Amino acid sequence: MRDILPPDYFSSDYAGARERFLNGARNCGCEIASYPIGQVDPDGSPLTVDVAISTEGDASRCLLLSSGVHGVEGYFGSAVQLCFLDEWASNPDARPTHRWVMVHALNPYGMAWLRRVNEDNVDLNRNLLRDGADYHGRPEGYDALHHLLNPTRKKLSRWEPLRLKFALAAIRHGRKHMQQAISAGQYDHPQGLFFGGHGPTKSHQILTQHFDSWLGDAQRILHIDFHTGLGRPATYQLLTQHPTNETQWRWLMQTFGAEFIRICGQESVSAELRGSFDDWGPWHAGQRDYVYVGAEFGTYSPLDVITALRQENLCVHSALTSQEELRRVKARLLEVFCPASLSWRRRVLDLGAQVVDQALANL
Ligand SMILES: [Zn+2]
Repeated sequence: MRDILPPDYFSSDYAGARERFLNGARNCGCEIASYPIGQVDPDGSPLTVDVAISTEGDASRCLLLSSGVHGVEGYFGSAVQLCFLDEWASNPDARPTHRWVMVHALNPYGMAWLRRVNEDNVDLNRNLLRDGADYHGRPEGYDALHHLLNPTRKKLSRWEPLRLKFALAAIRHGRKHMQQAISAGQYDHPQGLFFGGHGPTKSHQILTQHFDSWLGDAQRILHIDFHTGLGRPATYQLLTQHPTNETQWRWLMQTFGAEFIRICGQESVSAELRGSFDDWGPWHAGQRDYVYVGAEFGTYSPLDVITALRQENLCVHSALTSQEELRRVKARLLEVFCPASLSWRRRVLDLGAQVVDQALANL
């Protein structure tokens, strides 16, 4: 059992998180690769996807830990990564006996500018469609919810009874069906929520180009991709959607415990998604034994999260938004995806580290 982890692994901004990540990776003797996305952070520094690769030990097995697919959610995933980099730098005996890779802030723009989406309003975890797939369409039922999710500013009232509206929509459509319609991924409204893009984003292109080299010769890969915002506060589910084979499924259950493993869309906190990592990863890995889990940690209620997303998206795309208002909605977005509460931070860091420990003990 490890000691209680200090919550200061949570960085206060992207630049600080990146610096700590690179230092930690250097202190562990990792190979480091930084891929620019052609954007800058609020201080004008170039934004990069940073990858740390340890080639020590058994090359046939690889643990892959990724953070920040959803930008602002990356503060938690980054904290888990920093915690292990710290531990492995100071205690080489604790390092994995096999290859390991950490991908820091796969959507660095969202992490730096406090958005869940990237520089083009694209949800990266809806953008990872397989080669040749059609970036068009929207889920059944989306049209009926479009104006609730993506209102035009002029029609907004300060006194809009938003909670009531979402509650009524949930009654009308059914809670599960509504979640599927809202969040499965849409490709027709570029300024809307959960937009999957009109083609592969820069981060997607980086993945396509370099993913194989990160995995090296590994034939057995466990990929843990950290997310926040779904589920009860400070609890987690390990989500998978790609049909695993029976051996992989049994291994997941034994390693992490059946109560934590869920299939997206089936009794889980997540809808079944289009263009997500857990389809793209196993597809790209081909014949390799590749297992993906989206480690989803709860923060606030679904209504709190969706209203914060809606408000931030509306403000970002409206010329009527003041800087003060923008700061306020972004602060709220950060809070719903990475609560400031010290007890939440301690708890999720502890649970995140526990998941990684379980993976290391069984890979
Ligand atoms: Zn996420």
